[in-house]
Formats: sequence, structure tokens, C-alpha cells
Amino acid sequence: MGSPFGLCAGCAHQRLIANTRGSRFSLCERSFDDPRYPKYPRTPVVECGGYEPREPRELRVEGTK
Ligand code: SF4
Repeated sequence: MGSPFGLCAGCAHQRLIANTRGSRFSLCERSFDDPRYPKYPRTPVVECGGYEPREPRELRVEGTK
């Protein structure tokens, strides 16, 4: 198996959040307007109805807010 984030690692709705210690957290952007999706899903996600494949270049990484 690849990423510790599971399905989210290849999903168009994932945003990686980096903290100051270098850890990364997987945020689900679907959570912004759909309560069925947790903001920080428990990983690895193995099954998700909201999964949509992402082009590799679309991955975003942001710092924590
Ligand atoms: S929609 Fe599902 S697979 Fe995609 S980022 Fe959210 S929880 Fe992960």
C-alpha cells in the first residue's frame, strides 16, 4: 500500500496541511460544504464515496492556520 493517507493521497479534494514540526495532515475539502466528510478524516481512508482522482500537479500544501 502506498501513502499513509490511503485514498485521500490521490483525491482531488485532499489538501495537505504542514505544521511547524514538519508533520503533514490530510484535510478533506469536501468537509467545507458537506457534513458527511470530516475535515481531517481518519487515515488511511480505504473507502470513500467522495473520491475523485487528482492530477499529481494539483496537490496543494499549506501551513496550519
Ligand atoms: S473526498 Fe474522500 S478520498 Fe477525497 S479527500 Fe475527502 S475523505 Fe479523502
